[in-house]
Amino acid sequence: MAVEVKQGAATAAPGNGTAGAPWVYMAEDAPATNRDLLGGKGAGLAAMTQAGLPVPPAFTITTAACNAFQAAGGQFPAGLWEQTLAALAHIEQKSGRKLGDAANPLLVSVRSGARESMPGMMDTVLNLGLNDATVAGLARQTNNERFAWDAYRRFVQMFGRIVLNVEGLDKAFEQARDAAGAKQDTDLNAQQLHEITEQLKSHVQSHTGKPFPTDVKDQLELAIKAVFSSWMGRRAVDYRNQFKIPHDLGTAVNVVTMVFGNMGDDSGTGVAFTRDPSTGAKELYGEFLPNAQGEDVVAGIRTPQKISEMRAVWPEVYRQFEEIADRLEQTYKDVQDLEFTVERGKLYMLQTRNAKRTGKAAVVTAVQMVAEGLITRDEALRRIQPMHVQQILVPQFDPASKKQAGAVIGRGLAASPGAAVGKIVFDPDRSAEMAAAGEPVILTRKETSPEDFHGMAPAVGILTSRGGSSSHAAVVARQMGKPCIAGAEEIDIDVANQTLTANGTTLHEGDWLSLDGSTGEVFAGRISTIEPDFNRETELITLLSWADDTRTLGIWANADTPDEVARARSLGASGVGLVRTEHMFREEGRPPIVQEMILAAPDAKRGDPKARAVYLSSLEALGKFQTGDFYGILKAMDGLPVVIRLIDPPLHEFLPKHDKLLEDVTRARAKGESGPEVEEKERLLEAVSRMHEQNPMLGLRGCRLGILFPEIVEMQVKAIAQAAARLKKEGLNPIPEIMIPLVGTRNEMALERERLEGVVTGVFKAEGVQVAYKFGACMEVPRACLVASQIAETAEFFSYGTNDLTQTTYGYSRDDAEGKFLGDYLAEKILPQNPFQSIDREGVGELVRIGIERGRKQRAGLEVGICGEQGGDPASIAFCHEVGMNYVSCAPGRIPVARLSAAQAALGHVPTDL
Ligand code: ADP
Ligand code: MG
Ligand code: MG
Repeated sequence: MAVEVKQGAATAAPGNGTAGAPWVYMAEDAPATNRDLLGGKGAGLAAMTQAGLPVPPAFTITTAACNAFQAAGGQFPAGLWEQTLAALAHIEQKSGRKLGDAANPLLVSVRSGARESMPGMMDTVLNLGLNDATVAGLARQTNNERFAWDAYRRFVQMFGRIVLNVEGLDKAFEQARDAAGAKQDTDLNAQQLHEITEQLKSHVQSHTGKPFPTDVKDQLELAIKAVFSSWMGRRAVDYRNQFKIPHDLGTAVNVVTMVFGNMGDDSGTGVAFTRDPSTGAKELYGEFLPNAQGEDVVAGIRTPQKISEMRAVWPEVYRQFEEIADRLEQTYKDVQDLEFTVERGKLYMLQTRNAKRTGKAAVVTAVQMVAEGLITRDEALRRIQPMHVQQILVPQFDPASKKQAGAVIGRGLAASPGAAVGKIVFDPDRSAEMAAAGEPVILTRKETSPEDFHGMAPAVGILTSRGGSSSHAAVVARQMGKPCIAGAEEIDIDVANQTLTANGTTLHEGDWLSLDGSTGEVFAGRISTIEPDFNRETELITLLSWADDTRTLGIWANADTPDEVARARSLGASGVGLVRTEHMFREEGRPPIVQEMILAAPDAKRGDPKARAVYLSSLEALGKFQTGDFYGILKAMDGLPVVIRLIDPPLHEFLPKHDKLLEDVTRARAKGESGPEVEEKERLLEAVSRMHEQNPMLGLRGCRLGILFPEIVEMQVKAIAQAAARLKKEGLNPIPEIMIPLVGTRNEMALERERLEGVVTGVFKAEGVQVAYKFGACMEVPRACLVASQIAETAEFFSYGTNDLTQTTYGYSRDDAEGKFLGDYLAEKILPQNPFQSIDREGVGELVRIGIERGRKQRAGLEVGICGEQGGDPASIAFCHEVGMNYVSCAPGRIPVARLSAAQAALGHVPTDL
């Protein structure tokens, strides 16, 4: 938002883009609800001033002025300086003092304040207006020479560091303090402070080549410019990137009459939250420090006291503060983060803003405030960020322990939230082995692939140096609810040599590592964690019950095992939207049978009787396993629908990798080895080579596989029907829904249904039971969406497989995209967001919309859901609500978030932490 700078008119310059709007507002007449224009701090000061609370006289230079300043390459826009001087005159009049007046000096603070608070990211200068003449005036005025020199030395220190960019001032002060034999700053007397101030000034002069500025108007101008410039400072830019705060908001500058907490023991400064920001407990939470100024409380120069202890020290001030805190909470209907100063027994408020809080505190306070009648249930639902819910449900690092831990050795994508502490392993087999022996392990790979799954499942966390947030590692980790950091490029993971090197540290197998999957930080060593328990999160349970009353979208889960299903159900899932049957092919004891079946399949198809016998017998063996699998899953979701997708990936994925086989065979031949083992490898290599596809993503997979090798899907469907029949006989109520993957034509769906429905009815007839079931299509190619009415002739439900639909719509292979160009596309803003994370409304979304419309025209009441990764993403959930889906299906761990997001979608609310 660049504001055009009109030259000329000194006082009627454009402000927030509106002709004639001022650049500067007095706190008493600023538009207090306009945080965009005044920034959070300015808006808070205005509101408190206008409510008659004790706030020192102040004015605010707008964010629009900051943007105009940036646009003009660091020049004040026309009229700004004049308006600033006029506002200054106003506060001079109110306070009865004058900036630079040696007899009766006014001091001010110059404070940054953007719309979103960015704690510690930008700069504030206190005690501005001091020089050799005014310091004497201040001493006389306050009858406190020590105080005056303390204020001056703080000003030189701060102004030098922040405005003049001089390094080493804080250190110089500490050295001078120590040299004077003082333990802490309060031990220094007036004379010592005077001398130290002179030393600091010459430190500044030797660094800048100029004397410390004595003209107070120059000081003011330079300080305002420094605050404006700090908006584009490295720290602030990084912070905004991290928290997705736009870079064009600009910061306001607040000029506030100084009040002094460092005038003796009846003075002090403090910060307090109206409720505990980490637990939400309803009590004032904070600290104060007698005889101190500004940041002293936070900076830890002396140990501050608990705010509750203030009651004993200054009872009247405490009572007044409590009352104000309460009033501000009532006004803002939210937890406030307050700053105050006490000058000779009188309380001044310096800041109020909505407090940052943990997920736990956010939920607890929202539920409390509904009980207190302060906000409605809808408001509570709106106020919680999806991230808050997520934070509550994953193990987290104990903040104290995290603080103590050494430096971060590297960073990657915060791919799956939570804290993980474990021993490094590089090899999936070792991971399984060590985990079986009871060790917590962190599987550390350049990237993971489906063959690593057995090492991923038992790991407490996963770290990769390559890949994005929908890389294999990330997707699998999220589904399992395991912390994962993906794509930590600065960490060198050398699997061959079993070392991990980062930031000069080299770690080996068995060394401890801690991952913060919520921030992407990797630590060497162990950080202690705290474990959450959903059933004990009473407030969250209450909040989510309100969400359930509000939402119209069903929340189902993607789950492949009875344990995952049970977990999903306990978190509130009302169905399973995706069971990936092929995951079961990889379980203990099955891969050899699967391999045998696949190797025999082509010859069996050609009519070779021997191959056919092997093919059928291995399918029969697999069928037994699958019946057990489906039995467990349907039982765990008793009474609720379970969508089971028939085999989907290309068959070669279940065989060893071509390159690895080739290597083994070549090596064996070179060494002249022979025997059954080598022959077996040769046979495998030959089979794998025959199955090679140019582009497996678009090759023989999905329903194409089922159509060419009907026996495989018939085995699966028979297993589903038998499991359902068994449960029915046991008095339960299984509701299987059979999903045909990658359907693109009317005939594919019709043929599959016709062939497979016979299997289902056959089983039920033989078993003498009736079970309700459905056949439906996984909608994951664009054509399916366009001919949805034809597909809906035989499909009773649609489930949008938006992972593949995104690949096939964009023509991107996800793995290649994430490995090769997606990062650049996102950085260059060619794509506004990762479409594999959050649904692309314009393209993929449009196909979804068309498919639903055409499908329901053919079959009114067609059940529609989503089973892609995006189903757990708040923005995508809002989309699914808008297009009239019946449910979203997501990883079990995302269910509480999805319940909230679906409610927010029903309320038309868009959360900001998307
Ligand atoms: P931040 O946004 O980093 O908290 P602030 O602008 O709020 O920065 O100020 C830093 C510190 O200085 C705070 O403790 C604040 O209370 C204090 N402070 C700011 N202005 C004044 C003032 N006019 N008088 C006394 N203390 C002040
Ligand atoms: Mg502050
Ligand atoms: Mg798919």
